[in-house]
Amino acid sequence: MSLQFINAADLVGHWINGQADAGAGTRRSEVFNPAQGRVARHVALASRGDVDRAVAAARAAFPDWGGAAPQRRARVMFKFRDLVEQYSGDLARLLSAEHGKTLPDALGEVQRGLEVIEFACGIPQLLKGQHSHGIGGGIDHWSQRMPLGVTAGITPFNFPFMVPMWMAPMALACGNTFVLKPSERDPSPSMLAAELLREAGLPAGAFSVVQGDKEAVDALLEHPDVQAVSFVGSTPIAKYIQQTGIAHGKRVQALGGAKNHMVVMPDADLDGAADALIGAAYGSAGERCMAISVAVAVGSCADELVARVVERAKKLKVGAGDAANVEMGPLVTAVHRVRVASYIAAGVQEGATLVLDGREGLTGELAAGFFINPTLFDNVSPEMSIYREEIFGPVLCVVRVPTFAAAVELINRHSFANGVACFTRDGGTAQAFVQKIEVGMIGINVPIPVPMAWHSFGGWKASLFGDHHIYGEEGVRFYTRYKSIMQRWPGSESKGPEFVMPVNK
Ligand code: NAD
Repeated sequence: MSLQFINAADLVGHWINGQADAGAGTRRSEVFNPAQGRVARHVALASRGDVDRAVAAARAAFPDWGGAAPQRRARVMFKFRDLVEQYSGDLARLLSAEHGKTLPDALGEVQRGLEVIEFACGIPQLLKGQHSHGIGGGIDHWSQRMPLGVTAGITPFNFPFMVPMWMAPMALACGNTFVLKPSERDPSPSMLAAELLREAGLPAGAFSVVQGDKEAVDALLEHPDVQAVSFVGSTPIAKYIQQTGIAHGKRVQALGGAKNHMVVMPDADLDGAADALIGAAYGSAGERCMAISVAVAVGSCADELVARVVERAKKLKVGAGDAANVEMGPLVTAVHRVRVASYIAAGVQEGATLVLDGREGLTGELAAGFFINPTLFDNVSPEMSIYREEIFGPVLCVVRVPTFAAAVELINRHSFANGVACFTRDGGTAQAFVQKIEVGMIGINVPIPVPMAWHSFGGWKASLFGDHHIYGEEGVRFYTRYKSIMQRWPGSESKGPEFVMPVNK
């Protein structure tokens, strides 16, 4: 693959109508190498005119693509799947360089995106309707799922390949065309995905990428030809997307932020729980919507748990994502680093015990890049901002509670409800946790319960606005509408005009 979308001036442009497109907009944004703390390249920010061209191309492509046999669309997905596998190393290198996460973590992200493409290969099975023969008077009745038309996706910086793959393969395999607005902070993986889709045989216009910021997002939300919008990002923007999209008559699914708790019961395997916490809190520098940011230590286990986490966190290898054996990379931008550091300062001021201060020990290459070391707060209480708000960095808060019931009550009172975990050896506790907890995705002795592609992903409360979770069968429902048909042929049992509600007694 040529990576032709990064031009000689190191500018990432758009992908419109099957090719790289510099766009008419003149605004640009910086894309960083977060490990080195320097500008690596720039990205074009789409104007409304650029968005209009992408939507027009998607609209023009819809009749043929939406009308194509479902197995023909599936075959494009099969080829795309193979190409993504073939280019997984390039995708991982691109996204690690712009996001900062480690290469093995980036490869994991590509793999999870690939699994949704694999699910999309089988979508014809889910598009087939249901049929009832002879419901009365020679009438057959059936229902079928139809594509919506032009659909759009707006995605966050933290999974620049996987999250677009939660949307585009699903929408396309259902027969829609798709316009993607990726995060302006790591724009390149979407462009390579666009090249691979073209290579797989997707018709020009069926998939476009418009790079940009609020201007491009608003243009999509207000565009009369966009039928549905999928969004993944922070809660304030998710709310805005849902309200604005609905006001413009669109179907919207908007996944928001998170504050994920992990309950550790006194009977849990504490070494296993500490290992799980370290990976789930500090992996990808905490920039995951399924990261664990609160450990809820129940009863007597708190001191031992904190000691184990500290011991492990001190050994964690922090560095550039492409360096050997590194376990945690930098944050995405300097602005985000300042934000995370300000939460650490707020936690100290609010009275939490700062056990590990990630603002310390940033020497050598860590001083140049956007790094924060693993940070641990103990004795955190529910009114503190570090507990209530999403920090999205390598900051783990420990809340001590006396009982299992207090842990459940604490979690159910939180405004976010994306993921949650409970570590215990007791089946009854696990069963009660699953039934009582008001959160969308639950792990029992599993710290990051991201659903497989044939299930669906989504939180509750302030973590999701809309009626459908994303990908899996929920995704098929979101990207299709239902059509119900009753059919009778002349010569069958017509009774002449009927003036009462038709029934078949
Ligand atoms: P963000 O909300 O800042 O940006 C997401 C997208 O919205 C980007 O494409 C961005 O360009 C656009 N955007 C930003 N500000 C906008 C505005 N004012 N108007 C219109 N569009 C705007 O999120 P982020 O910082 O890129 O990503 C991190 C957030 O995403 C975290 O809150 C994280 O929890 C969340 N997230 C959630 C999930 C989930 O599945 N629930 C998954 C991944 C990330």
